[in-house]
Amino acid sequence: MKILVGVKRVLDFSIKVRLKSDGSGADLACARMSINPFDEIALEEAIKLREAGVASEIVVVSIGPQPATEILRRALAMGADRAVLVRSDAAVEPLGVAKALAAIVAREGAGMVLLGKQAIDDDSNQTGQMLAALLGWPQAASAAELRLDGDVATVVCESDDGLETLRVSLPAVITADLRLNTPRHISLPNIMKAKNKPLEEITPAALGVDLRQRLKVLRTEEPAKRRSGVMVSSVDELIDKLRTEAKVL
Ligand code: AMP
Repeated sequence: MKILVGVKRVLDFSIKVRLKSDGSGADLACARMSINPFDEIALEEAIKLREAGVASEIVVVSIGPQPATEILRRALAMGADRAVLVRSDAAVEPLGVAKALAAIVAREGAGMVLLGKQAIDDDSNQTGQMLAALLGWPQAASAAELRLDGDVATVVCESDDGLETLRVSLPAVITADLRLNTPRHISLPNIMKAKNKPLEEITPAALGVDLRQRLKVLRTEEPAKRRSGVMVSSVDELIDKLRTEAKVL
């Protein structure tokens, strides 16, 4: 079975986001960019399935600008077999990404798509669901555990109400949550080997998809600064403040 893993180039989670002065979005110039952390977890799961003899090939796909090849090379160093960049210099949104991924699934004949549950830049949490709808495949979102038995996947999914166990037949779209696994470290020899692994660059037009944006960002702004805390001297004072001063924001 061939597994497709979607990896997005995002602002590194450890840096402080700065906004552009015109309020049009985050300032990416000179900012450190990385693989979306949930996508590393999705890729780790795919590698484990290949190690278990269930998957035969892992293809990582990114839809984005040319520098996204850097994160694709990292994904290859981590263990993916092949990479595809769908080159788009303009910002992309979940529906466009889902359409591009659906076209690549059809081209590659993939039996499973593993994605992150969300990209930490826009926090959309939509691409996996849209992709499953476009393909007409079952989906299991926010996976914390994945077991395969033939062409059936048993997936423990995290939800606001607790854990939900789903059984889905393959092919399926599965999105990874934080607890699914811990991604492996990338060794220097594997970084060197990744330079010789295949990385194909294609245009959205070659896939027959239109990535034009349908959403318009009107304005972005910093969240309000948190007010400093207050030390209370007793439990009674705390209860009094909770009763009389605390507000639901
Ligand atoms: P989102 O719906 O934007 O929160 O993204 C959910 C998941 O879809 C991500 O964790 C990625 O696995 C995948 N994804 C989103 N955008 C891209 C992209 N530009 N290229 C490749 N995969 C993406």
